[in-house]
Amino acid sequence: MADTIPFLNLAETTARYSREIHEAVARVIDSGRYLNGEATSRFESALATSCGADYAIGTSNGLDAIRLIVRAAIETGRLSPGDEVICPANTYIASVIPFREFGFRIRLVEPDTVTMNLNPARALEAAGPRTRCLMAVHLYGYPCWSEELNRLAGRGIFIIEDNAQAIGARSATPGLRGTHITGGLGHAAAFSFYPTKNVGALGDAGAVTTSDKELADAVRALANYGSDRRYHNIYCGYNCRLDEIQAAILEVKLRHLDEESCRRNAAARLYAESITNPAITLPCVKQGDTHVWHQYVIRTPHRDALKTYLAGRGIMTDIHYAVPPHLQPCFAGQFSAELPITERLASEVLSLPIANMTESNILRIAEALNAWRN
Ligand SMILES: *Cc1c(COP(=O)(O)O)cnc(C)c1O
Repeated sequence: MADTIPFLNLAETTARYSREIHEAVARVIDSGRYLNGEATSRFESALATSCGADYAIGTSNGLDAIRLIVRAAIETGRLSPGDEVICPANTYIASVIPFREFGFRIRLVEPDTVTMNLNPARALEAAGPRTRCLMAVHLYGYPCWSEELNRLAGRGIFIIEDNAQAIGARSATPGLRGTHITGGLGHAAAFSFYPTKNVGALGDAGAVTTSDKELADAVRALANYGSDRRYHNIYCGYNCRLDEIQAAILEVKLRHLDEESCRRNAAARLYAESITNPAITLPCVKQGDTHVWHQYVIRTPHRDALKTYLAGRGIMTDIHYAVPPHLQPCFAGQFSAELPITERLASEVLSLPIANMTESNILRIAEALNAWRN
């Protein structure tokens, strides 16, 4: 039998940049400075520049990046505990968790059936007088920005981007400051550099970007015990810092982001050209948007059978996500809205391997998919 095609082999991604990563880590080790040093500042500048934001603050991980934005927005009077927030129902649970922590009323909105991202018309419809915040999750690497979001911001709604999956993606619709790159579209954005993300650390890491100086200062202070200068604490904050070793690794990874996005894009294009089975729905990209393919998500009502079939042919797949946030035990009984589109997607989506793919492996997967009869 042919070799197994893994869903994701992170060692292979790391190996591509091994020499640069080893050198970057060695420089930090030898410097004697392991937190709040030059590697972190350099990475923060590079990240801010890459998405057209004025400020970037490195954080411990993506979930903390979201928490810091929400807390900073509260501390600076942009949001208040108890406010209503609109979140996409089809997302990873980390997009939603921080709002619960701060007592927000979470309103889940059904996805667009084509993009699987937040349905902008539904978001507009859901926004009422109590709505103060919107969580724009660029799910699977697809930019979810739209004119409706600009309109909601015009009504005073604070828009946070969850850019954990879409670093480097470009939206056809410009954001609040006229730029097009995710992370620079809304009022603030959260990034995750979890190892499997398109820019992955070798451990946990994240970041916040914003062009709001007051918010950036609050995020930076909150991530460092609430301290705005040494031994002077203006907030009861957290310890959510990015460390120098991860920052140095991320500097290398960010430098190669375009190259990585091109690889993913080429793989996605080849899948789209080669998969012809009408029982399978392929992901699609709207004119002018640039997808960065964090996941390549296909759909079929017979998903579990297809997953088993592929596994039998040595092709490993994954599901993003099998159980949506509102059906998780931690949220049991807390969301009364019916979310049939989200629940149907959860039963139909299947993620194909997309990173580090050779042409022959993609063709082998396409062939298996085309031969599949449910
Ligand atoms: C990965 C991810 C997060 C959380 O990031 P961590 O670094 O794992 O805390 C948040 N939102 C989305 C959409 C993600 O994919």
